[in-house]
Amino acid sequence: MTTLVTRPGAREQEELLTLYSNPDTCPTDALVPRPLVEEPAFISWQQDIPREYLELSPEELDRRIRYARAVLGKRLVVLGHHYQRDEVIQYADFTGDSFGLSQHAAAQTEAEFVVFCGVHFMAESADILTPPNVRVMLPNMAAGCSMADMADPDDVYAAWDDITAAMGGAGKVIPITYMNSMATLKSFVGEHEGLVCTSSNAAKAFRYAFERGDKVLFFPDQHLGRNTGWELGLGLDEMVLWNWRFPGGGLTEEQIRKAKVILWAGHCSTHQRFSVEQIEKARRDHPGVRVIVHPETKWEVMQAADDWGSTAKIVKVVSEAPAGSVWAIGTEINLVNRLAKANPDKKVFCLDPVVCPCSTMYRIHPAYIAWVFEGLLQGHVTNEIRVDDETRKWSLVALERMLALP
Ligand code: SF4
Repeated sequence: MTTLVTRPGAREQEELLTLYSNPDTCPTDALVPRPLVEEPAFISWQQDIPREYLELSPEELDRRIRYARAVLGKRLVVLGHHYQRDEVIQYADFTGDSFGLSQHAAAQTEAEFVVFCGVHFMAESADILTPPNVRVMLPNMAAGCSMADMADPDDVYAAWDDITAAMGGAGKVIPITYMNSMATLKSFVGEHEGLVCTSSNAAKAFRYAFERGDKVLFFPDQHLGRNTGWELGLGLDEMVLWNWRFPGGGLTEEQIRKAKVILWAGHCSTHQRFSVEQIEKARRDHPGVRVIVHPETKWEVMQAADDWGSTAKIVKVVSEAPAGSVWAIGTEINLVNRLAKANPDKKVFCLDPVVCPCSTMYRIHPAYIAWVFEGLLQGHVTNEIRVDDETRKWSLVALERMLALP
């Protein structure tokens, strides 16, 4: 099969420069469905794909995807994360946040194939949770997560050694990793009595850890960790930041010994954009507005909001709100737009006036779905995600501890 190295041409480079030079726009082409070749802002980071898929129109892609889907029938299950664009999420058999989708993945015992429309760490978790005969695919291998990349396994192992040495055998530290992390780190926490959590169950995971140890090491999202510690009654002075860029995390041994929670210096670039100023503006412009944000936002943003929670909670709260209510949401724009469409009797808008989706979630374009589905029709498994047996063993332990949380 011929593949094309998808580098932007001169015209696309010019468009890229225009997009990036304007601080009030986000290079996502305003979320309009278009052929993959016409997404210049992203094409340079995309995985190579056979040339024939690059120029297919949205209508042609839709026709081919639906045909392949119908032929594959129950052999195939498609999972779609809330942050996927509409023209992708429409093909999902199940949609949800990373916790809900991990439950759906664990339930797939009959299907031969699971196509995960999300990012790399989610597809890895699906591979760990499904039986070995179920083959998991990620439509575009370039769909990673910048937050997950901030916790490099070698940095985490070095931090663990430094922290346990600083404690000098006094007390026990339990590691917790956010779902947004590599499988090797899930395996690491499983092997060290820890567990995985999502934004739906982080507080329960912290309670689990404090019942078994004295201190939590949480990675990679400092904001979810800090917001969760606060929710459980910890003071900000009881949580310290481990900055992996500095020797010893930039902390003294005394700071490590005194802390109840050690937070990894990682963040989500999409959620870190939300600010207290945006909330104040929403309150000025829309008297009576309710503000709900995702816990990957900064602590001060969460404090200024009316409510906070996982994407599943945001969907539930807004869907159950009375007609006529007004909602400013602090999470990824594709979900906010979908919520606005699904709730025409309410006013729902994104806190951030600059339309900016998660750029890595956005890499799942229908062209990649058509490529993967049609490969299956021809007997090829494209972009398979396979976690090795050793990593699978302990990461499964860590994931199952999470799934068993009360
Ligand atoms: S929204 Fe943030 S945490 Fe989620 S996949 Fe995108 S970069 Fe990663």
